[in-house]
Amino acid sequence: MTQQDAPQLAADTKTELWDTIVIGAGPAGLSAALMLTRGRRRVLVIDHGVPRNRFTDHMHGVLGHEGRAPGELRRIGRAEVEAHEGVFEDAEVATVTSVVNDDGTRVLVALKDGRVFRARAVVAATGLRDELPNVPGLRALWGRGVYACPFCDGYEHRDRPIAVLATGDHSDMKAHLLRQWSADLVLLVNGSFTLGDAESRALAARGIRVERSGVDEVLADSDGRLRGVRLASGTELELEAIFTNPDFVPLTGMLEGVDVRGPEHPDARVWVVGNAGDARANVPVSIGQGAAAGGEVAFALLMDEIAAATD
Ligand SMILES: Cc1cc2nc3c(=O)[nH]c(=O)nc-3n(C[C@H](O)[C@H](O)[C@H](O)COP(=O)(O)OP(=O)(O)OC[C@H]3O[C@@H](n4cnc5c(N)ncnc54)[C@H](O)[C@@H]3O)c2cc1C
Repeated sequence: MTQQDAPQLAADTKTELWDTIVIGAGPAGLSAALMLTRGRRRVLVIDHGVPRNRFTDHMHGVLGHEGRAPGELRRIGRAEVEAHEGVFEDAEVATVTSVVNDDGTRVLVALKDGRVFRARAVVAATGLRDELPNVPGLRALWGRGVYACPFCDGYEHRDRPIAVLATGDHSDMKAHLLRQWSADLVLLVNGSFTLGDAESRALAARGIRVERSGVDEVLADSDGRLRGVRLASGTELELEAIFTNPDFVPLTGMLEGVDVRGPEHPDARVWVVGNAGDARANVPVSIGQGAAAGGEVAFALLMDEIAAATD
């Protein structure tokens, strides 16, 4: 698409043409921004302050930051990027459009408030939304007793009463995995799938209880932390943690129709990193993906400059 095809995206050409606009100031975006600013590139980071792990007070499994509050890592990362002359804009991106303009603009980034920025490259690090199973009381306890990732939150609940809330086939494997953290473990089938005989035998052989009665409600204590579940049978189970598998919804709607850098589009100027492109990326993996993309973007910009100089 050329800018003529997108007249509604009239970027102010008197304002800066950014080497890179990073959308999202989570671990992935900040890491990309740090690489690029340290590479002496002009970088604008746009973020509207809704990180995925805002529901939890502590991060785990992040080397050098074990137990740190997620917001603190973001504050440290932002300060590091600002110290290298990165610029931040607290705003929400609405659309991203690829263009090829004579002034070097390759991407237009339009904000919800109507402003349009121009860039030579974009790194989209916008994360994902967790769609939780529809059980009353569950969402309010997300990150406060209800989790997805055993490696992130299992250790703090080791040897305590834990449940796996099934969401479909393979939930028995999640229960087998959680057995590593606690022997006091129950799989809440909640009507989500049919356990075969072989699967039932394997669970029993490893001491994992199976509860087939539906889950009516997830219960909180007076401090707002998980207390247990009430089953359709009326029984209440005391629990310290529930692990479940949400559906992962990447927050990439603003990229609709845009080619993303990869084997199919080796010349595209939009990179997607972190949870926006990979639901399994925890914080350290997101940091790594951001750093790798930062290096790739810097190299792509360099190739443009060599081509322009030798034209
Ligand atoms: C409850 C919970 C606990 C977790 N615990 C751990 C843990 O202990 N250890 C661990 O390694 N991982 C943990 N995770 C996973 C961790 O949250 C992700 O791995 C990490 O956040 C991914 O980083 P990211 O930069 O890709 O996305 P995010 O951190 O979600 O950052 C995305 C950023 O993009 C911004 N954004 C999105 N759309 C727009 C837009 N249109 N315009 C402007 N800005 C936008 C958002 O505001 C956000 O700041 C946990 C997740 C959850 C839900």
